Amino acid sequence: MSHNVTLIPGDGTGPEIMSTVRRVIDATGVKINWEVQEAGVDIMAKVGTPLPDAVLESCRRNKVAIKGPITTPIGTGFRSVNVALRKELDLYACYRPCKSYKGVRSRYEKIDLLLVRENTEDLYAGIEWPAGAPESKEVIKLSKNKIREDSAISIKPISRTGTRRIVKFAFDIAVKEKRRKVTAVTKANIMKCTDGLFYEVAREVAKEYQGKIEYEEVLVDAMCMQLVQKPELYDVLVLPNLYGDILSDLCAGLVGGLGVAPGANFGDTIAVFEAIHGSAPKYKGMNKVNPSACLLSGKLMLEHLGEHEAAKKLEAAIKSIFAEGKNVTYDMKPFRDDPTAVGTSQMGDAIIRKMEEMSTVSASA
Ligand code: NAD
Repeated sequence: MSHNVTLIPGDGTGPEIMSTVRRVIDATGVKINWEVQEAGVDIMAKVGTPLPDAVLESCRRNKVAIKGPITTPIGTGFRSVNVALRKELDLYACYRPCKSYKGVRSRYEKIDLLLVRENTEDLYAGIEWPAGAPESKEVIKLSKNKIREDSAISIKPISRTGTRRIVKFAFDIAVKEKRRKVTAVTKANIMKCTDGLFYEVAREVAKEYQGKIEYEEVLVDAMCMQLVQKPELYDVLVLPNLYGDILSDLCAGLVGGLGVAPGANFGDTIAVFEAIHGSAPKYKGMNKVNPSACLLSGKLMLEHLGEHEAAKKLEAAIKSIFAEGKNVTYDMKPFRDDPTAVGTSQMGDAIIRKMEEMSTVSASA
């Protein structure tokens, strides 16, 4: 059986990473009809929008997409294409496993955390106004002058509906993956209405899983310290959007950095697979960055497509390349300027060769 998958190369280092990802996934033997769709700064220069309708239509039609990172200008310019894609396709659940692999340098061992981030609400809702705008003035008036007049305003919406579905997603995944505990992370001692609602709803959902999955609450500041000191205490973390974004990078740091941290965004019917890392524009066109996070996102995609054997084969080959430490990119070497580091595409070649070796060994066994 073949699968139709939308491939979004992205921009910056995205295209070079994703051409490697495509080659490696094809080498697993799974038949994929790739529908390539451009999004990001390069297509913006050609057609005037960084997210053409064709990209969304393709994702809706194929139901499965894999994407490279896309640059978001800071402060000014277009809004994040990544955020827009998640919102337009209602990909409300961001799934980010953080797992230790032998050979990946890190201060920690045996980490196996799963971070579930709400993807559509919170300060990412894009409801904000500059200082002096009539809307800002209106909100300042509503605050009874507790806000300085020269303030810019961002709004943080957290809904019952949005919270219920993300917490339920976290508990369902915990059951499916035979995990033991879900920890809800907010700052509800300060944001009593929004984060307070998140906890209120999370407690209701947790009751439905009582006896199966443990539930606890930890405030986000305490959680940062806990994760650095005792990450082994945690299992599945569920968080509103902004805390989820920040803690994703922290958790990626626990397992060796952004180069090895995969991810996926799920809605009720559509899934888009992408790494946590961004477009690392300073390395654009240098065939330098690590394709592993996107390849491990590809492994998640193969599982989602029901191609479990291929997913296992791909992960085993990546693990083996990590453990050997030879054919890996600069970020996985003991020193960043190690002359033995290979490029993005050569690391992909080594993973393909490893899969071939593994197939030969299992065929002759
Ligand atoms: P980044 O993740 O692109 O890069 C930060 C640093 O991490 C890099 O300089 C590099 O040292 C390292 N790094 C990242 N990916 C790596 C890889 N695959 N291999 C080796 N090292 C890697 O973060 P940034 O510089 O803050 O963001 C750059 C752009 O990407 C911004 O415009 C940002 O908005 C965007 N971004 C996009 C996504 C996405 O597409 N989902 C996610 C995060 C950031």
